[in-house]
Parts: sequence; structure tokens; C-alpha cells
Amino acid sequence: MRFGGRVAIVTGGASGIGAAFARRVHAEGAAVMIADLDVERGQALAAELGERAAFRSVDVADAAALETLAADTAAAFGGIDILYNNAGIGCYGLTPDLAIDQWRRVVAVNLDAVFYGCRAVIPYLKARGGGAIVNTASASGLHADYGFTAYNAAKAGVINYTRSLAIDHARDGIRANAVCPGPVDTPILTSGVDAIPGLRAQWEQVVPAGRFAQPEEIAAVAAFLASDDASAVTGAAIPVDGGLTAHTGQPD
Ligand code: NAD
Repeated sequence: MRFGGRVAIVTGGASGIGAAFARRVHAEGAAVMIADLDVERGQALAAELGERAAFRSVDVADAAALETLAADTAAAFGGIDILYNNAGIGCYGLTPDLAIDQWRRVVAVNLDAVFYGCRAVIPYLKARGGGAIVNTASASGLHADYGFTAYNAAKAGVINYTRSLAIDHARDGIRANAVCPGPVDTPILTSGVDAIPGLRAQWEQVVPAGRFAQPEEIAAVAAFLASDDASAVTGAAIPVDGGLTAHTGQPD
């Protein structure tokens, strides 16, 4: 029960990694506020978890909505200890072909939203004497995926923003860390990959572990970073990628 008496917000909490994190920290005692655009799945997960769980429909690209989310969470559960900024979207497009609106939306959801969430929640963490922020970046923020121009840029931004949070707020008792998943078996990836015959097998070939991660494997690392087990860890960007970013790209 690492999270007994703690209150966590998770964005993108209706699906994939966020849902796995919500289940994990709730099972270990936390009260959980699930925030997502997907009302049906978000409400279903809150109902599944039962007591100490709630859902709010939020577009994380809307700074005012995140202010409201923070206030609602503190009102519902008495404060905030953990913020998991996890919502994200992908987008394929080389620079000459990418519409400016596409670039803006990808940066808004993947990067701006992390700033909005932290801006809204840090005063509540300070009021508790500290807390933990975890941000879902990506292996694509450490290195680049072909054609994922805006996504690569936004996720790299999340990693260095996390470092900035970590150093600026260490003396407030606030830790900030990023998880950097490689390919994970969730809709954001599989909806595209499984539409192209053979692409999953090609991915599995380039991941040294030879497989996609399951969302629970990413959530386990995020939960560690959110917990007191990681009390001396701040400013880290941890690959959770089956060895993908340890690899030079040399053919096997
Ligand atoms: P997912 O598609 O299962 O979940 C993403 C969730 O985010 C969905 O529930 C979606 O409704 C929500 N969401 C999207 N835009 C939103 C918005 N504007 N406001 C609120 N909610 C929004 O995918 P996932 O793999 O669980 O993705 C979680 C995070 O992991 C994302 O940041 C993603 O970029 C990152 N990531 C995923 C992979 C992968 O291979 N799946 C790899 C690296 C990083």
C-alpha cells in the first residue's frame, strides 16, 4: 500500500498506460482522478475502481480545464500528491507535408498540456509539503522515429521540461521524472501498426527484447517514480523500451 492516503491525477487515464497506472496506484491505496477525452471508457474505469476513484472529461490542451481539474480533485479527495501527465497523440507527417494545425495540436496535447498540468497542480503539491510528478515522454523524445516530426519534438520537450521542473522544485519537496516507453501494445500505436501488414513483425525485429511492452510494464515504472521508493530520484528520463534505445541500429 505505497499510496495509502495519497491522491493522484492521471491524464489519458481511460486507456492504455494511463488506465494501467490508475489501476495500479488505486490497488496500492491511492485515490485516483482519471482525466480523459474518452468519457465512456473513463467513466467505466472509475466505476470499476469504485470508492476513491472519479472521472472528469478534460481536453489536456485546454489550460483552464486543467485548473478546474486540479481544484475538483482537491475538493473531492482533500488535496493532490501525484500528477501523472500521460495523455498523448501521435501524428505522421514529414516537415513539408505537415499542416501547421497538425503541428500545433500535437505540441499542444503532448507538451503544452504537461506545462498546463504542472502549473495547475504544483500549488496543491506545495500545500502538502511536496509530491511527485511523472510525465510520459517516449523513446521518440530520446531519439527520433522516421516521419513523427512534431511528436519527436514534443516528446523531447517533455524530457527537458521535466528536468527543469526537477531542479526548480526540488527544494519544494517535489520530484519530477519522465518515463520513455518504446513500443507498447496500446491503441495509439497498434491502430496504425496493425493496419500495415508486416509492420508489427518489423518493429519486433528492431526491439532487442523482441516484443512490444504491455501497458502495465510502463505503469509499474511510473508508479515506482510516483512512490517514496524513488525518494532520491528526480530529473530522470527512464527508458522502458526493451532495449530499443540501447541499440545503435546495427543490423543483427
Ligand atoms: P492510448 O491510446 O491507449 O491512450 C491515450 C489516452 O489519451 C486515450 O485514452 C485518449 O483518449 C487520451 N487523450 C488523447 N488526447 C487527449 C486530450 N487532448 N485530452 C485528454 N485525453 C486525451 O495510448 P497509450 O500508449 O496509453 O498512451 C499514453 C502515453 O504514452 C502517450 O503520451 C503516448 O504518446 C505515450 N507513448 C506511447 C507509446 C506506445 O507505443 N503506445 C510509446 C511511447 C510513448
